[in-house]
Amino acid sequence: MDIYLLLFLIIIFAGSIISYIYYLNDKTSQLNIIQKGICPSCKEPTIEMSDQRGAGCGPKLVTFECNSCGYENSFSINKGSCGV
Ligand SMILES: [Zn+2]
Repeated sequence: MDIYLLLFLIIIFAGSIISYIYYLNDKTSQLNIIQKGICPSCKEPTIEMSDQRGAGCGPKLVTFECNSCGYENSFSINKGSCGV
């Protein structure tokens, strides 16, 4: 394999990992804001939980919606304890 092609693939691979980490960090900071009841988009305290999926153990998928600007986002929240 051409060394330059290999180098190119490594750069692409590293770049996608970095953007994925940035994406996750962004999601986490948005969730932190939402859990205070504030919309990350318009900064109004009008965020509401609109949907919640997943019962029992494991992560649950929670959807939040803003009544002011229409912001909507889903988060998978890992529950700390498993009630067995
Ligand atoms: Zn909003």
